[in-house]
Amino acid sequence: MVTTHNLGYPRIGKRRELKFALESYWKGQLGADELEAQAAALRRQHWDEQGGLDLVPVGDFSLYDHVLDTSFMLGHVPERARGPGGDALDAYFRVARGRPAQDRDGPAACCAGVAAAEMTKWFDTNYHYMVPEFHAGTCFELDASRLLAQLEEARQAGVRAKPVLLGPVSYLALGKSKDGSDRLGLLPRLLPVYARLLQALAGQGVSWVQIDEPILATELDMDWQQAFNVAYRQLRVPGIRILLASYFGPLLDNRYLAANLPVDGLHVDTTRGLDDLAPLLNLLPAHKVLSLGVISGRNVWKSDLGALLDWLEPLAARLGDRLWLAPSCSLLHVPMDLESETALDPEIRSWLAFARQKLDELQLLARALNQGREAVRDALLANREALACRRASARVHRPEVRAALDAVTPQMGRRRSVHALRAARQAELLRLPAFPTTTIGSFPQTAQIRHARAEYKAGRLDAEAYRAAMRAEIERCVREQEALGLDVLVHGEAERNDMVEYFGEQLEGYAFSRNGWVQSYGSRCVKPPILFGDIRRTRPMTVEWTRFAASLTARPMKGMLTGPVTMLNWSFVRDDQPRARTCMQLALAIRDEVLDLQDAGVRVIQIDEAALREGLPLRRSQWEPYLAWAVESFRIAANGVADDTQIHTHMCYSEFHDILGAIADMDADVITIETSRSDMELLDAFDRFDYPNQIGPGVYDIHSPNIPTPEQIVQLMRKAAQRIPAERLWVNPDCGLKTRQWSEVLPALSNMVAAARSLRGIKA
Ligand code: GLN
Ligand code: ZN
Repeated sequence: MVTTHNLGYPRIGKRRELKFALESYWKGQLGADELEAQAAALRRQHWDEQGGLDLVPVGDFSLYDHVLDTSFMLGHVPERARGPGGDALDAYFRVARGRPAQDRDGPAACCAGVAAAEMTKWFDTNYHYMVPEFHAGTCFELDASRLLAQLEEARQAGVRAKPVLLGPVSYLALGKSKDGSDRLGLLPRLLPVYARLLQALAGQGVSWVQIDEPILATELDMDWQQAFNVAYRQLRVPGIRILLASYFGPLLDNRYLAANLPVDGLHVDTTRGLDDLAPLLNLLPAHKVLSLGVISGRNVWKSDLGALLDWLEPLAARLGDRLWLAPSCSLLHVPMDLESETALDPEIRSWLAFARQKLDELQLLARALNQGREAVRDALLANREALACRRASARVHRPEVRAALDAVTPQMGRRRSVHALRAARQAELLRLPAFPTTTIGSFPQTAQIRHARAEYKAGRLDAEAYRAAMRAEIERCVREQEALGLDVLVHGEAERNDMVEYFGEQLEGYAFSRNGWVQSYGSRCVKPPILFGDIRRTRPMTVEWTRFAASLTARPMKGMLTGPVTMLNWSFVRDDQPRARTCMQLALAIRDEVLDLQDAGVRVIQIDEAALREGLPLRRSQWEPYLAWAVESFRIAANGVADDTQIHTHMCYSEFHDILGAIADMDADVITIETSRSDMELLDAFDRFDYPNQIGPGVYDIHSPNIPTPEQIVQLMRKAAQRIPAERLWVNPDCGLKTRQWSEVLPALSNMVAAARSLRGIKA
């Protein structure tokens, strides 16, 4: 018999109940007991929804983040958050969110501020975890109370519970050493705590425990490989059987290591290539369970159940009871339930599976394997039909898009002249001063703008009135920029809800869910658009707004677009063709927009690639091919313009030293990046790499309410000028201004312009 289980379930709730409960609690409108009660109700509901499985995860739920939960369970709480008084929950959120210095009326009534722990991306997902902070002296002390309480809850609810833990090696790997000490040095202190935890679980009658070690899908140095051997030899606890879980990619060179650790079962992700499988079957000792993650936990498409059964049936015959089935990873990364998507086009909807539907698929597979395909004949038939319909749909496959793609040549991605020549032409046309000033695109999204957009969407505001409201906002934005004395203006992006959704909504090939929320961090969720078919632009998307903005001023107006790689990386992307191909389709659509903007007289065009770095594969050895097609897509989108049209791009991540070559290959005339928080340290990368084009290192940290003084900005620019010739420098903020208030933005930009003037040698 095949066993079914799940690695983790979304926590936020179908209607984002957890988000709203948390936010009320933080505002002091909801008591701690009430928050805990709502969390318990959600857990209960989620267990019910997973009730058909043989083993259900417990401990995957979190009020904020599961890595932070692990830190608390291990008694590893930053010193600064152990403040005087306040309960455990208070301390927990103190680490998660920080506490401003002026907050004197929280339960802890501390007067000094507490900095939040750093947050970073969970592998190649869009989920962010709280980074554990290590020192040479870090000690651990078990506090399993929360997990044990949840196990008790589960027991009372009749759940066949399988506790889920983040493994010790990945836990250390995901953290950061604050004093340069070796994190692995902490392993001997950490392991006894894990062992005690397993003993406590055994005491509760637990038999299987899932221990996640996702770093097994990444490249590991010898010492980290060795750490696995040391760790799992120490974690043998009578009564406890360990299922070691890896996911997000194949094991590759970690195969032998993973197969031979002294555990009772191994879970692998089979949705990102099956290369591992045959060798694993030979390597895996005959007593071990093999759990196959066959249903993708990373996308929203129905699985091909017939095809899965074709390769699973012989495996089931060979492995018997040792075969387990599961989604590839926790379902945290997909929306909860397709049921509620009543507004979604029924044809597209019939191709999709969210978390709940994925578990149905899993159970279907298990029944087909355990009882024969006949037992689930109708369901298999329905699955086959849905897939056939998707494969044949004229909305997925558009011959004209294919033809356009086939006609792409590398020439289309090359500017006519080298940057130095273009720069001269652009200077003639644009007549910009030295240290030109600009912004990244968006200006504050005021309550009125958001209100107008919502009213328009709901049909309560007609198109004419909406247009008038947006035009008024654009005009205000242009006037303010002129008054500030900025050199290259923007229209302010008032009409955009989100930089991907705005374009997706206007392109064929994209669909939007209503409740397809996925947790990004804490209470924050995103609703990625669904890219289901060939991408086609049917009409210009930004030209009218940009042209209107340009008509209001004699200064250069910068057109603002989202790049193909970012569109791709922030969407749920079709799985029936390579991502590179889909990205190129997006590139062609953006290219058309770029050329239309140029025709409309817009001679500075910015193409944002905020998410270029996010798409990097987990293994460095696979970076090269990704960067090749990602950069090529950008080039196709951007580089069809005349020499005197200036292309900008913007990237808001802060680490790019290791991909600087690829960024240079994009050949944008100007790149603006985030640098102010690191005090220009990020520009160190330019010591080793001679970046040929122009660059605007951010001088205003838009994530902070602080307003930089002109002197600070001049200082930053002087540092930048030590690395990059001054004639190639721009002056701009780190990122878009949409989350800030006008009252902050105006003085900050005014200081920025003053700083640029003083750099030019003009007295204020
Ligand atoms: N143009 C966008 C803005 O200013 C860029 C946002 C981003 O980089 N995330 O809002
Ligand atoms: Zn940015």
